[in-house]
Amino acid sequence: MLPGAPPGRVVIKIGTSSLMSEGVPDPVKLDALADAVVRLRAGGVRPVLLGSGAIAAGDALLKGADGPSAHGRQLAAAVGQGVLFDGFRRALSARELVAAQILLTPLDLTLPEHRDSARTVVEEGLAHGLVPIVNENDAVMVRNNDVLAALLAGALGASRLLLLTDVPGLFESDPRRDVDARLIPEVPTMTPEVERLAGLTAKGLGTGGMSAKLCAAWIASMAGVPTVIAGADSPDIVERAVAGESVGTLVHPRTPGKEPDLGRLWRSLGTPPAGQLVCRPEAVAVVRDGGPLTVDHCVAGEGGFAADAVVDVTVPGHGVIARGRTRAECDAVSGRHHPAGTPVIPHFDYVSFLEA
Ligand code: GLU
Repeated sequence: MLPGAPPGRVVIKIGTSSLMSEGVPDPVKLDALADAVVRLRAGGVRPVLLGSGAIAAGDALLKGADGPSAHGRQLAAAVGQGVLFDGFRRALSARELVAAQILLTPLDLTLPEHRDSARTVVEEGLAHGLVPIVNENDAVMVRNNDVLAALLAGALGASRLLLLTDVPGLFESDPRRDVDARLIPEVPTMTPEVERLAGLTAKGLGTGGMSAKLCAAWIASMAGVPTVIAGADSPDIVERAVAGESVGTLVHPRTPGKEPDLGRLWRSLGTPPAGQLVCRPEAVAVVRDGGPLTVDHCVAGEGGFAADAVVDVTVPGHGVIARGRTRAECDAVSGRHHPAGTPVIPHFDYVSFLEA
């Protein structure tokens, strides 16, 4: 939690399959969630909900006429957003709570003036006793609600981020394919090794649909917020996770207690790495000092990534020392040459994994 942040803010993200049935908000699932909200509020917690399902609701109404393109999904969400919110509104108003719809893009949480405005409207809503119902503003930008939830948790200085989904947590192999898959109950420090254990490959394919959850867990952990990834249908999951019981997978924060640079976290960690930038040993000191990584530090790019890609920065013998977003390619194989000093990853576009 950030010093000075109001206590008890919890961001709860619920996936489409845990809110909707056949393209409509499922009253049984929403009633259970609304009951949990009532109980949390009675205990002094102020939940902020982030629910997915706008695209599913729109798809059902448009009967596929929207097509699978990005714009089609944006239109589907424009049709379905109100349907999804109405599900929340009904369930909460039956419990005398008022839902407040807040639609955000990642930019609204990473540009400082937008972030302050978004944070203020959520806080004012909570102060008025409202229940903020957040979703991506999918009509203009469909990205990923897990990452948005992590950014929001960082912006609010939340005491916890809950990612509720249709699997019970992070597993060492895909639980949908492997009956013996083992749950990872606790991640003391988020590292690239944890991602590998949880099955994230260089192409960003996680096991059990986990790659977005891993990106979110990275952002939250670097923003000082603990994350719980858990199954939405486990009994009393919300209260148990908020109370600190051992449920699902708990990812501890890496850097608690300081105002996070959410823009840097979003650019560096919001997408799974597309490849590796192999650097010379001097890069370790550069990253420690927070300087730019230039072509002079790079040996090769592996994985065939282009400029504007998220990559792991590795140094032989030191492993992955940072993750960031490239401005220029550095690929010995492609034969591209940039003048000496050309920044490959500017100092504000990577996150250091070196211990402070
Ligand atoms: N915002 C999208 C929706 O409401 C979902 C995106 C996601 O689940 O990550 O349909």
